[in-house]
Amino acid sequence: MQTIGLLGGMSWESTVTYYQIINQVVKERLGGLHSAKCVLYSVEFDEIERCQSSGNWQRSGEILADAARALERAGADFILICTNTMHKVYGQVQAAVAVPILHIADLTLAALRSRGIHRVALLGTAYTMEQDFYKQRLTDGGLDVLIPGKADRREINRVIFQELCRGTISPDSKVLFLRVLEDLRTAGAEGAILGCTEIGLLIGQNDTDLPLFDTTQIHAQAAAELALTDC
Ligand code: GLU
Repeated sequence: MQTIGLLGGMSWESTVTYYQIINQVVKERLGGLHSAKCVLYSVEFDEIERCQSSGNWQRSGEILADAARALERAGADFILICTNTMHKVYGQVQAAVAVPILHIADLTLAALRSRGIHRVALLGTAYTMEQDFYKQRLTDGGLDVLIPGKADRREINRVIFQELCRGTISPDSKVLFLRVLEDLRTAGAEGAILGCTEIGLLIGQNDTDLPLFDTTQIHAQAAAELALTDC
C-alpha cells in the first residue's frame, strides 16, 4: 500500500472527512483490520486565511511548500492539498516536491466527464468561484461553468468562512445553498460541484436530485484507490 500525504487543516473540519473517507475505502476494499497509511501535516488555518485575504498568495504557497516537503520526508508517496482554494498555489507547491500532488479539479473534471455532464454549477469560496485558477482547468476540459450571482457568492463565501470552517452547521445556510443550486439548475446546470471541502458538511445528495460532485469525496476516494493500486 502506498502512503498518502495529507496537507490539511484548511479547515481541519474537512480534513477529518478526508481521513474518514480514505480509511473507509481501504476498509471496504481490504476488510479486517486494514487501514490507510497516511501522513498528515495540518497547518494553522488562521495564518493561511490571513495570506488569502491580504492577497499574499506567495507566502501561503511557501507555507504549503514547506509542509509538502515535510510530508515527502515523512514518506508520503503522493500528496493531497485538502482544499480547493489553495490549489491557487498548486504549481508552487508541486515544484517543491518530487512526489505527485493529485489536483482536486482534475479529478473532479474526470468525474463529471464520466457522468456525461457538460454544464455545471460551481459553489466554493469567492476565490474559487471568481478567479481563473480553478475554473480554467474545468473549461479547458470542455465544461461550461456556471457560478452564482454576486450577492449569492458573497453569502456562500461568508457561510464557508464564518460557519462551516468553524464547525457551525446552520439550517438557514442549508436553505440558502439549496436555493442557489436550484437557481443554477434553472440557468441550465446539469450538475453541481461542491467546490469547497466543507460544503459536504452542510448539504449532500439526499437534499437534491441535481447530481452533486463533492470534491472532498472525489479527492479522498481517488487517493485511497491510488494507494491501493498494488493491493
Ligand atoms: N476548504 C475550503 C476549500 O475547499 C476553503 C478553505 C480555504 O480557503 O482553503 O476551498
